Formats: sequence, structure tokens, C-alpha cells
Amino acid sequence: MMRIGHGYDIHAFEGSGELWLGGVSIPDARGVRAHSDGDVILHALIDALLGAAALGDIGQHFSDTDPRWLGVQSSKMLEQTLSEVQAAGWKVGNVDVTVITEEPKLNPHREAIRKNVAQLLSVEMGCVNFKATTNEGLGAVGQAEGIAAHVVVLLEDA
Ligand code: MG
Repeated sequence: MMRIGHGYDIHAFEGSGELWLGGVSIPDARGVRAHSDGDVILHALIDALLGAAALGDIGQHFSDTDPRWLGVQSSKMLEQTLSEVQAAGWKVGNVDVTVITEEPKLNPHREAIRKNVAQLLSVEMGCVNFKATTNEGLGAVGQAEGIAAHVVVLLEDA
């Protein structure tokens, strides 16, 4: 059997903190406002995994008022999510990531992000696709006020 899931996340740019995408630190970029490290790819990926496995959403599993998750690396949250998904009898088939942002340019980081996401999920790099697009200047994302991501995941019987 196969199951599909979708996840979406957005964070506002703020301050001089690090920008994390797919567990990769992106140099020379603005950081984001977040309870955790604000990694929009990993947050959307967690929601996509939970969605495909019918296990709810990221807010139920990692409450943003819970001090345990304050400043936590999203890769740790993903690790826990993956264990739950695996315990429910699923393995990851493939992942398709779309990031929407006006800045920074993500093309130079494409392969590093694919590699790291694949590693975090214990799948081949060929099972992870990365796309980046702008919002063509429209709306908050288009005005470079923040960064958003969509992730679609296919799960297969383990
Ligand atoms: Mg988030």
C-alpha cells in the first residue's frame, strides 16, 4: 500500500540568526522568527510525514509552548517523527520539496539540501527532489518578509 502526505510551513525573516533549510545552515542569509530553529523544509516535511501516516500535525507532536522544543534542532523533531511513522509500519518512498522565497538564491545549496534530507530519512538522494521558486514579488513572501515551503511525501509499506 502507498500513502501520500502534504506539509506546508512559513516563517518570517527576523534578526541575524542562522537560516536553516533541510538541516543545512545557509550562509549570508537572514534568520527567521521561530520557537525552534525555524527550518521550513523540515517542518513541512514533518507535517507531510504525519499527514501520510494519518498521525496528526506538527503542533500536536511538538507544541510551540513546550519548553522541550525551545531552540531545538528540527532534525531532532524529524528523527522522532520518522520513528513514529516507521512504528506505524511505513517507510519513505520519495519526497518532493518546494521552497518559495525571494532570497537568498538557493540554487548553490540544492545538492547539499537534497543530500542532508535524504540522510535524515535514510533514503537514496535520488528519492529527494528540491525545487526553489520566488513569489514574483507578490504578497508577504514576494516582499521578502519570509520564507515558505511545501513538501509532498509518499509512504510505502515497510
Ligand atoms: Mg515552522
